[in-house]
Amino acid sequence: MALHYVIRAEERASFLRCRRAWNFGSRERRSLEPALPSAAVDLQRTLLEALAVYYFPGMWDWQPAIVLPLVRKALEDSLRDQQAEYLTAHGLASLPPGQAELTAQRHREATAMLEAYIGWAPTADAFSPVGVVVEADTTVPDHRAPGRDIVSPDGRTVRFRDRVHGLVIDEHNNYWIMEHRLVHGAWPDVDTVALDDRCLAWCWVWQREYGGMRIEGTIYNELRVGTPEAVAPPSGPRGSVSQTDTYIRPWAPAQEAVLDSSAIPTPPVYELRVQRSEHFRRIQVPRSREEISSFGQRLSAQVLDMIDPDVLIYPNPAPAHCGPCEFRQPCIATNAGGDVEGLLADCYQPREHDGPRAGRLGAVAPNRGGGALSTFGQRRR
Ligand code: SF4
Repeated sequence: MALHYVIRAEERASFLRCRRAWNFGSRERRSLEPALPSAAVDLQRTLLEALAVYYFPGMWDWQPAIVLPLVRKALEDSLRDQQAEYLTAHGLASLPPGQAELTAQRHREATAMLEAYIGWAPTADAFSPVGVVVEADTTVPDHRAPGRDIVSPDGRTVRFRDRVHGLVIDEHNNYWIMEHRLVHGAWPDVDTVALDDRCLAWCWVWQREYGGMRIEGTIYNELRVGTPEAVAPPSGPRGSVSQTDTYIRPWAPAQEAVLDSSAIPTPPVYELRVQRSEHFRRIQVPRSREEISSFGQRLSAQVLDMIDPDVLIYPNPAPAHCGPCEFRQPCIATNAGGDVEGLLADCYQPREHDGPRAGRLGAVAPNRGGGALSTFGQRRR
């Protein structure tokens, strides 16, 4: 049994979307995953791994001529690693024709999107990165008992965990959390994007773990899938805020109450801001303290439901849920009264370790002694 009862952000999202899928896949429930990957390349993973190098804090002020080849190499490394994982899992020496075509298409898209992004991003990046691929991990307060954290029925501390895409600092030395998102098709409504609370959760975890630290809001960095034409990469700075112009405040450890301290500089008045081109959109959403702290209340109520041994499990079918669902076949078998256990035994396996891959950014979580996070403040616990 694991030391802590860990609830990952994707498990919370799965629980809220469809409890039957959550019950199959959650690590504290049946903890299953498909035995074989369905595709040799995941475009989102490919671009996230390239962007983690692009925004690596230690290289922000380096010459693009040095950094950009490393970013392109990260993309190629990711594609190569994913194909190798697919071939190993399927016991193949080469990709079957359908997968080879799909992989070639995703390679073209990933390359074109990255090259176009490299040309566009400097027009939108009004910040300096502080951290990339940083593990966010915290206990969950019990909203029914102020001052107490939630403990599972078997006595383990419950922890909420995710991996933050980016922490950045603006020209006023204020912090923002950034999420990279892939968009298929038309741009979603701005309000819909701003309502998605994965990124808000990162703000809440960060403020909870780094007492006294204030996150101003969330930045959604959207990349629309396609093959945009490349723009000439910059020969000078990759953003308008140099690392040398920013000051990473050494916040002292404190309780949440310090968040309201008058010692914290008054930030400028930020407003919702949208910048866009045909394939890239940047949405900057200021978040009030109330909005960030209310996430903790919401999470607390949801976690109490998730750890309840008597929680009701039922399907929640909808095209948006079932289309990408990994458990569609066992779900259909359950509905039909078929041999669900036989199907699970044949086509699924226990979930594996989900930590970062060795040798990649985030391979050592910063709160465990390393990783891509500039040093500041002290952790509260
Ligand atoms: S197929 Fe749909 S209803 Fe069934 S488990 Fe998946 S998301 Fe839920």
